[in-house]
Amino acid sequence: MKVAVRADVVELLRAGGLSQAEIARRTGASPLTVQRTREYLKLPAPKQGQHPLKHPTQDAAFWACTRPAADGHLTWTGRVAGTGTPVLRYRDTQESAYRIAFHLHYGRQPVGRVLAQCDVPLCVAGRCLADRTVRAANARADAAFDEIFGSDAAPTDNHEPPQGD
Ligand SMILES: [Zn+2]
Repeated sequence: MKVAVRADVVELLRAGGLSQAEIARRTGASPLTVQRTREYLKLPAPKQGQHPLKHPTQDAAFWACTRPAADGHLTWTGRVAGTGTPVLRYRDTQESAYRIAFHLHYGRQPVGRVLAQCDVPLCVAGRCLADRTVRAANARADAAFDEIFGSDAAPTDNHEPPQGD
């Protein structure tokens, strides 16, 4: 059987922690597509509603502490540190949910601090996060934009924050 494999469905299936119905709801894929993708990958049926400590992986615990928001944002529903940073306690470790989300989205460890770039409170959508490398690339793109259109036309909401890391 031929299966059109969707990367977003695969990512959530591999992470575990969400039911097939929830994965379908979040990705917009049909439940049948999710089911077939899971069978194609030979993954066990995911369970949901477990305490984070019972999740098989840190990624699974991460997804269980999120809720999709409008326009593709992803709201963190887990713990928030006193600094305002969303954090995930998993087994004996506590890590910034931003860093986990960044790694899931970009497939690499972040460089320097990971900061949210959107205005949605506690958003942990991978595409809304940037590390030092991504911010530097954005700054270069802004500079190129300035050269072409002049700095008055440049977006103003993407400045490099003070270096604190
Ligand atoms: Zn966002």
